[in-house]
Amino acid sequence: MADLMAAVKKELEKYDIVSVKEVRLTVGRLTNLGAEQMEFAYEVMSKDSILEGSKLVIEEEEIEIKCERCGYQGPAEDMDLGEDMHHRIPVLSCPKCGSSVIITAGKTCCVKSIDIEEAD
Ligand SMILES: [Zn+2]
Repeated sequence: MADLMAAVKKELEKYDIVSVKEVRLTVGRLTNLGAEQMEFAYEVMSKDSILEGSKLVIEEEEIEIKCERCGYQGPAEDMDLGEDMHHRIPVLSCPKCGSSVIITAGKTCCVKSIDIEEAD
């Protein structure tokens, strides 16, 4: 999270900013970063900076996998845990042939966009 904040601030240095309205992040499901924890950390870390008062929006990125054996490419399937949808566990093997796969999306966390108000 601290790395992300640094990245956001660095990006903001390029502009003549009046205020920051919104920072949008894409967070892969495999990063295990909880949205609530991140929002809290953001609030704490944005204090007394240009980011103070801005809103953090977190978009969850689904996991995508690629199978080298059969060529399957697409979202990873979730293990069936019944009603408990808050704890979806992705299956990191090919849904078609069961081979191990390469994870192509869902394990990174990055800044997607920053909504700012620039000075005239
Ligand atoms: Zn496969």
